[in-house]
Amino acid sequence: MNTDFIVNPDAGFANATMTGSSLHNQGYAFEAHGDFAKAEAAYLRAIDVKERGFGPGNTSTAVSQNALGELYIKMDKLSEAEEMLLRALKIRNEIGPQFDAAVTRENLGHLYEKQGDLLKAKDIRLQGASKGAMACGNFYCPKQCPKQIFKRTDLQNCGRCRAVFYCCKPCQAADWKARHKKFCKPKDELKKDATVPEKGK
Ligand SMILES: [Zn+2]
Ligand SMILES: [Zn+2]
Repeated sequence: MNTDFIVNPDAGFANATMTGSSLHNQGYAFEAHGDFAKAEAAYLRAIDVKERGFGPGNTSTAVSQNALGELYIKMDKLSEAEEMLLRALKIRNEIGPQFDAAVTRENLGHLYEKQGDLLKAKDIRLQGASKGAMACGNFYCPKQCPKQIFKRTDLQNCGRCRAVFYCCKPCQAADWKARHKKFCKPKDELKKDATVPEKGK
């Protein structure tokens, strides 16, 4: 057997696997320590290495894009966050996994809530409904609930805005306290052009 031909058949792919993962993990560590600028730089390099090594549309690249999108939301860089999450969602919609696509849609939901657009937040979440692939609105749900991906009928929405969906009452309570209460509005106030609230109809 002549092994000359199987030594390092694709250096770009091997480099993307090793260096890309290492850079991603560095980004994660910097983020955990609150060093967001260094985390951003590491994730950006990870994405660059992975895109060049794997070519477009790789699930590993989407993992780094989704992580960077989540970081940008924390940094209040909302337009950068949207661009990055939409790039991750495109890959995840096309090749999955469905749970990951649901997580990215949920991240976009959080982002649109932060921008004050609860209708847009609701719409992006409901894009998963036809596939039976929605995430719970509680970011920490996968850690505390055994089921991670839901049908629309498995979930209950926030009774006030109807724009966020939860798998159980404890998840709703946790997310309300940690996040959603800052953004929730009564659903009658969500209409895009309703500059004057209509009362007493
Ligand atoms: Zn949940
Ligand atoms: Zn609400």
